[in-house]
Amino acid sequence: TAPIRRGQIDIAQLNFSYDNKHPVLRQLNVSIRSGEWLAIVGHTGSGKSTLLSLLLGFYPVKDGSIRIDDVELADYEHDTLRDGVGLIPQEPFVLAATVRDNIDMNRGLSAEAIETAARAAHLHDTILAMPEGYDTLLGERGARLSTGQRQQLAIARALAAKPRILLLDEATANIDSETEQVVQRALHALRGQVTLIVVAHRLSTIKDADRILVLAQGEIIESGSHAEL
Ligand code: ATP
Ligand code: MG
Repeated sequence: TAPIRRGQIDIAQLNFSYDNKHPVLRQLNVSIRSGEWLAIVGHTGSGKSTLLSLLLGFYPVKDGSIRIDDVELADYEHDTLRDGVGLIPQEPFVLAATVRDNIDMNRGLSAEAIETAARAAHLHDTILAMPEGYDTLLGERGARLSTGQRQQLAIARALAAKPRILLLDEATANIDSETEQVVQRALHALRGQVTLIVVAHRLSTIKDADRILVLAQGEIIESGSHAEL
């Protein structure tokens, strides 16, 4: 399949359940235009992360549809989706591997692509200050990263394949202001250039969005700009 170029998302009559018993998403209808910044809010368990998982193709859509650039999600090749839709997860992980491998994640990216992504995440200078730069070992027996740096690593990882759609699952736990600033800076730099879906817990991320969706028990109960809601 052709790469994802616009990043337009159309979700129609989407229902989802993990166990075919308890509905987690119900009758979702929403279109997200190319370059839009959408924030999703809702109580714990309302289905926010589940929706992101579906957009990433982690689970098959069996009831309803999700189309990206007018193509059904199921019709995308794995690699096209992987490169076209990036995720900054709720809890970023660090592999016991080099900085480079932690950004590349077995995608065979060029050194240039890796460095560009690290710069976009404002991590490049930190990496250069490490004993072996991009070849520094991270993880259990390697260098330790601060929470903010882990977030930056996750941002670099997500940006490295130049996705047209970027999903951010904000941490529920209180994050330090440094980490919050790192994320904010990256998001603002990307504004309008990628379709951005942010599961938001912080007012700063919510206020800046073009549109906010409120999920409750798997249903969209409200939608509009911060001023409207
Ligand atoms: P939070 O704000 O706590 O991150 P959330 O809105 O992201 O919550 P989800 O993680 O999408 O909520 O969970 C929605 C519902 O689906 C919950 O009832 C949860 O227990 C259930 N659930 C989530 N992941 C799985 C899974 N992998 N297998 C089975 N049930 C799951
Ligand atoms: Mg979640």
